[in-house]
Amino acid sequence: AKESGRNTARFFTEKLNNDSLYYLNIAYGLREALAQQQFELHYQPQISLRTGQVIGAEALIRWHHPQNGMQSPAQFITIAEQTGLIVEIGQWVIEEACRQAREWQKAGLPPLSIAVNVSAVQFRRGNLDKLVMKALEKTGLEPHRLELELTESLLLEDIDHLIAQLDTLKKLGVQLAIDDFGTGYSSLAYLKKFNIDRLKIDQSFVRDINNDPNDAAIVRAIVQMAHTLNLAVIAEGVEDEAMLKHLRETGCDEVQGYLFSKPLSATAFATFMQSRL
Ligand code: C2E
Ligand code: CA
Ligand code: CA
Ligand code: CA
Repeated sequence: AKESGRNTARFFTEKLNNDSLYYLNIAYGLREALAQQQFELHYQPQISLRTGQVIGAEALIRWHHPQNGMQSPAQFITIAEQTGLIVEIGQWVIEEACRQAREWQKAGLPPLSIAVNVSAVQFRRGNLDKLVMKALEKTGLEPHRLELELTESLLLEDIDHLIAQLDTLKKLGVQLAIDDFGTGYSSLAYLKKFNIDRLKIDQSFVRDINNDPNDAAIVRAIVQMAHTLNLAVIAEGVEDEAMLKHLRETGCDEVQGYLFSKPLSATAFATFMQSRL
């Protein structure tokens, strides 16, 4: 028993060391990544079910790590948040997404809005309203073409600082969406408080929509509530025709998922758009 206790202790120490090494490695790498421009945005089309047109794109960050190759956000966003680097990374994301959207406009692509994921830390540590304004001015993108995807947990941070920033953004004309809707624990009171434009139904409800009656009921309830409150609803993670059919019948407004396209590089996205004209 003594022996196994020692082994357990060693296991934990090694794991701790490996974890903190991993952490430091990523944290340091992220700083480098900003300086060396190793980040890239990929864009996933959002399709209107009413018109069948692509009406927007969600910008999703990728990291080309010089040794480890392409890193998905799941591998580094949390560390970026914990180190505070997400403020600078997030600022790059917003400016790059606005710049790209403006470039597509100039190139004559049909009108698109661009959705950007933002973390709570960006509101807490930075002045997101000012930074968004700066990005819009710098790139010339109209504010209503930019949508910020917020999570429910972010809106739980019921601080005046956050409310003031969201108010300023709304007054500018920036659109606000709730990401992963239905997975948070917050009450729905924030829907009224924050002047939200759109709910994004989490893919965990979409995945089994045709097999799990509870998921189907949740999606139906979200769509009905959203429409009662005059909000648009987009479903994410739409992977096949059966899911699409179900969402269409439920009255969902827009969809996004592998059925239409995975997230694409900027060049591939433009080609995708042209192929649909
Ligand atoms: P999310 O905002 O919920 O983004 C949706 C994720 O689902 C993306 O993963 C997307 O590639 C993936 N996806 C899209 N269509 C499908 C589908 O049909 N089926 C399935 N199974 N998955 C699909 P990704 O790109 O790995 O991003 C993961 C998460 O990382 C995002 O979840 C978001 O929370 C975060 N993230 C990504 N980019 C940024 C960013 O610029 N800033 C911040 N703060 N977070 C980001
Ligand atoms: Ca999102
Ligand atoms: Ca999601
Ligand atoms: Ca998410």
